[in-house]
Order: sequence, then C-alpha cells, then structure tokens
Amino acid sequence: MEEIDVLVVGAGPAGSGAALAAAQLGARTLMVDRKKEIGTPVQCGEVIGRSLINQAGIKLPRQAVCSIQKSTRFIIDRSIMVENSEPYWESVTVERKILDKHLATRAAQAGARVEADTRLTEIRMDGDNVCEATLVSRGKELKVKPKMVVAADGVHSTMAKLMDVRWYPEEMVASGGEFEMVAKRPLPRAMQIFLEPEVGLGYGWIIPKGRDRANVGMATVGASGNRRHRVEDWIQDHPVISRYFDCKAILEVKTGDAPVPGVCGETVKGNVIFAGDAAGQTLAFVGEGIIPSYICGQAAGAAAASGSPDSYAASLEEVMGEELGYGAALKDEILRLWSDDSMTDSQKVLVSGLVMSECLGQEDMAALESVEGMSGSDVLGMLRLKLKSENRGIRVSPLRP
Ligand SMILES: Cc1cc2nc3c(=O)[nH]c(=O)nc-3n(C[C@H](O)[C@H](O)[C@H](O)COP(=O)(O)OP(=O)(O)OC[C@H]3O[C@@H](n4cnc5c(N)ncnc54)[C@H](O)[C@@H]3O)c2cc1C
Repeated sequence: MEEIDVLVVGAGPAGSGAALAAAQLGARTLMVDRKKEIGTPVQCGEVIGRSLINQAGIKLPRQAVCSIQKSTRFIIDRSIMVENSEPYWESVTVERKILDKHLATRAAQAGARVEADTRLTEIRMDGDNVCEATLVSRGKELKVKPKMVVAADGVHSTMAKLMDVRWYPEEMVASGGEFEMVAKRPLPRAMQIFLEPEVGLGYGWIIPKGRDRANVGMATVGASGNRRHRVEDWIQDHPVISRYFDCKAILEVKTGDAPVPGVCGETVKGNVIFAGDAAGQTLAFVGEGIIPSYICGQAAGAAAASGSPDSYAASLEEVMGEELGYGAALKDEILRLWSDDSMTDSQKVLVSGLVMSECLGQEDMAALESVEGMSGSDVLGMLRLKLKSENRGIRVSPLRP
C-alpha cells in the first residue's frame, strides 16, 4: 500500500493542470489514466479561443498548432451569416493528442508520477473521505492511500459514481459527433458555427485544421440515435457544408459527450476535489472546455496540495469565475428561448444565434423581443444599423446561395 499526497484521476487537461500544480507545490503526486495512450481517442473539436491561451499561461508546442482563425462565422438558419472578428472569437485549432501529451509531460517534468493504462476501479471511504483507492495498472492491482484526490475523470466521472455525487443533471450534457475530413476546396480561414432547426438545441461546426481539412460535426442537447449517422446525413444534405465536403475522405471519427452546465460552485466532497468536465467547468454556451479545464485543474491541484479543499471555490472564482459565469448566463438565455413555446424553431435559432454571436447582448432585451416577430431582411437591416452605431468588429450579411 503506497501513501501519496495527491491522487489525480484522469490525465486530460484538468488532470494534467492539477498534477502540475500539485507537484510544483512539492506534493507526492500520482496521475493515472485508463487510456493506453494519453490523448487518444480524441473526443473534441480541438479549437481553443485565442484569448484563453494567454490566460492559461501555456505556450502551445508548435507541432500541436494546426491553424489560426481570425474570426468566427455564425451561419444562422442557412440564411444569415454573422462574422465576428472581435478578439474573443479568434481561435487556434490544435492537434489534441499532441496537446494532451504535452500537458501531461509538463506535469511529469514538475515531478508528478504519470501512469497510463491505469484505471480507478474502487474506493474505500472513511466518512466523507476517500482513504484508499484501488487501481488496475496495466493488468495489475495497485492500492494507494491518498491524502487528497482530484477527480479529473471527465463527463461520466467514475469518482462521482463511486461517491454517489452528481454536480449537474444528465440534461446538461450535449451529445457530440464529428468527422475529420479532407475538403474538396480551400476552406475559409474562419471557424464556422451552424445554428439551425436541423441541429436542434446545440450547434454544428466546421473547425479548420488548415485550408484542406477540418473537423465537421455537431453537438446537441437531448439528441438520441446513432451520432455518426446523424453527422453523415447532416453533412451530405447541407447546402453550405456539402460545398466543401462529401463523406468520401474521412480521416478520423470522433464522438463524445460535452457537459454544458457552466458554473457549478463548490465541487468538493470530503478530500475529493472535482475539476474539468467532471465538475462541469466548460464555457457553457459553446461547450469549450480544454483550457477552462486546465485552468480549473490547476486550482484544484493547488488546493489539494495545500490540503485545503475549502480554498478551491474562492480560487476558481478568481481564475475562471468571470468566464464561466458569462458562458452560463448566455447558455441560460439560449435555454430560455428554446423553452418559449410561442416561437417557431426558426425564430429560436435566429435569436439564439444572435445572442451566441454577441450581436445582441443581454442588455438588448427589447431588441430581442422585437426580433422574434421580424422577417429575415428586417432583422438584417436592424442589425446593420445597430452594429454600425456600436462600431463593432461584427459583419452581418445574407448567405449567398
Ligand atoms: C464532440 C466534442 C467536441 C468538443 N470540442 C471542443 C473544442 O473544440 N474545444 C474545447 O475547448 N472543448 C471541446 N470539447 C470539450 C472538451 O473536450 C472537454 O471539456 C475537455 O476535454 C475536458 O477536459 P477534462 O480533463 O476535464 O476531461 P477529459 O479530457 O475527458 O479527460 C478525462 C480523462 O479521465 C480518464 N478517466 C476516466 N475515468 C477514469 C478512470 N476510472 N480511471 C482512470 N482514468 C479515467 C479518461 O480516460 C480521460 O482521459 C468538446 C467535447 C466534445 C464531446
């Protein structure tokens, strides 16, 4: 039986952030992941908001960067395009396998022990605290006695199940699927987000990984059925996407579930601190979680190393409170629109697209209400006037057929 200070379960961005911070503070740290190869299979669109990278203080390794996008285009109901070029909507597409291994490498270099192919299977409790964890490490049983645990084991957290805790409801999980595909013609240097009734409560995307290939897919709350079939049908029937892609050159299939609850407050039970997807720490309106998880993971690792889980909530508030809160507020607004039975699905995607692309803010509630009853060309006219007067880096146009 090995005694350790901090056991980190999961070696995604949250786990690597936690293991790095704990090891840097001198804690005897063990990070385990059930995957045979850290970072694979990829279950991610692989795009990161550029501003968050500076905030996280990471220098992306050159080989992890596929492309940089200067803007994000929102294609609303296949008829209106909003292009947001403000700094928040600049993005970098990464090779997630490389990034995850890079982050785990940094944790190891700081002194954390890292074990791939090592699965948490059981825990023994002493009151609210985990006093013993059973791991199956490359086929052999290993028991450890951790003083503190960081549960960074993703959306379907094993630790949460074993401890019988739930930080967010199942309805706050979007079902995602995408193909990494070769494009038939050069792609624009912009990320593209598709809001339309065909996708439902969520969005579709083209995330370039260069000019000639991209991740193309969708994530929807409440979707059922085979996600690969859904994505394939959507791509083939789509007037914009089928211009760039057919399903004849698929390099990788990626599926997974993304939590979208936003801020969850204090996600601590006994000596276990939950971080990343296990705690629902994504920018809820878009489901972006790589960097938020890494930053929150570091806060969890530091709190675990200092043996003070109570400090976690305050440091989370300091490092990511504003971003998580903003994402959750926009997500709540979109959910409110989707539960409004007086609107058609087309109106719902229009208004939620304008909210998501930040054409309309929460302070524009009056405008929001008037949009609900407007025709497409009236909406365009109103938005152009508004955006011109605000002098913003946002352009709206009808979508060319
Ligand atoms: C389809 C899809 C597209 C997405 N696109 C983007 C995007 O473009 N940009 C973005 O920022 N975010 C995106 N996300 C979200 C992002 O992938 C997650 O928010 C992020 O990976 C969370 O990091 P994490 O470390 O908390 O969890 P994870 O990355 O899921 O890592 C958890 C780790 O825990 C391990 N684990 C689980 N159980 C055990 C166990 N019992 N024992 C040992 N190890 C265990 C898993 O193997 C895994 O490696 C997307 C999500 C989905 C599903």
